[in-house]
Amino acid sequence: MTCVIGKTGRVRIDLHCHSTASDGTDSPADLVAAAAAAGLGALAITDHDTTAGWAEAAAALPPGLRLVRGAELTCVAEDGRGGTCTIHLLAYLFDPQAQAVVDEYARTRAERRTRLRTMAGRMAADGYPVDPDALLADLPPDASAGRPHLAQALVRAGVVESVTEAFTKLLHGRNGYYVPSRKTPVRDAIAMVRAAGGVTVLAHGFAHRRGPVITAEVLVDLVGGGLDGVEIDHPDHDPDARARLRAIAAEHDLIVTGSSDYHGTNKTVRLGAETTDPGMLAAIVDRATGADLLVGA
Ligand code: AMP
Ligand code: FE
Ligand code: FE
Ligand code: ZN
Repeated sequence: MTCVIGKTGRVRIDLHCHSTASDGTDSPADLVAAAAAAGLGALAITDHDTTAGWAEAAAALPPGLRLVRGAELTCVAEDGRGGTCTIHLLAYLFDPQAQAVVDEYARTRAERRTRLRTMAGRMAADGYPVDPDALLADLPPDASAGRPHLAQALVRAGVVESVTEAFTKLLHGRNGYYVPSRKTPVRDAIAMVRAAGGVTVLAHGFAHRRGPVITAEVLVDLVGGGLDGVEIDHPDHDPDARARLRAIAAEHDLIVTGSSDYHGTNKTVRLGAETTDPGMLAAIVDRATGADLLVGA
């Protein structure tokens, strides 16, 4: 499609943000308003495993703000050391009606609800003041349920003071409360997004403090499987991770992005804390055929 963004200039672009359609705390309309208020020129809405926020964000788009409609897909990959690990795939400008994508992430969202109910049930059985039914009932019907929703319930019940504390003490995955979420094999996800006209970027690929990450060899292999780019400037990447990713991206001519991974008040990072070069957004838009970049009128 025609690109409506210059390849240079000072426009600030944040390509990884969450709304209440998943585990952010700003509604999609509030998210685009906050982006304009923060002085951003372009923003991607990338809720976990859903496109449910796209319509509201598009309808509320402030004048001049560009909206990249996307999602962050929960995937599993071989880690390159004989095991597997969870990875997140940013998918941009794909056709949200593509049946394979619709079916895959409807299954994931359904299982996310069951899984969150199980986790809350285990905690309730241990005496924590959380009600699994109320937790699920409070979520918008097509929202993607995640551990931050349970974390908020624990904050509301006074068990912990913050979402971060809930993760550190209870939701970290190394105790009996944790239930894994459904994950798509990453090669299938890349192929599915491609077939739907979208562009894929590996999210926070070398953020080792979050948990196990893939090796450089696996990453290069995913590029062979159609991966378009890597997110480099991300709050969870240390300088060494950024440098290693930059070297791989240069060698393989990848799209590179920088983004905040904003979650509203569920995380401390601010919108636009990390940004993407306009030329890279132009490359994403040039490559995509599934959905248009929107510009607020
Ligand atoms: P889930 O996909 O349900 O397993 O939840 C993972 C989500 O929890 C991530 O997308 C983050 O938004 C959030 N998260 C993970 N670790 C933390 C943390 N330490 N503090 C706050 N939020 C976190
Ligand atoms: Fe999240
Ligand atoms: Fe992520
Ligand atoms: Zn994210």
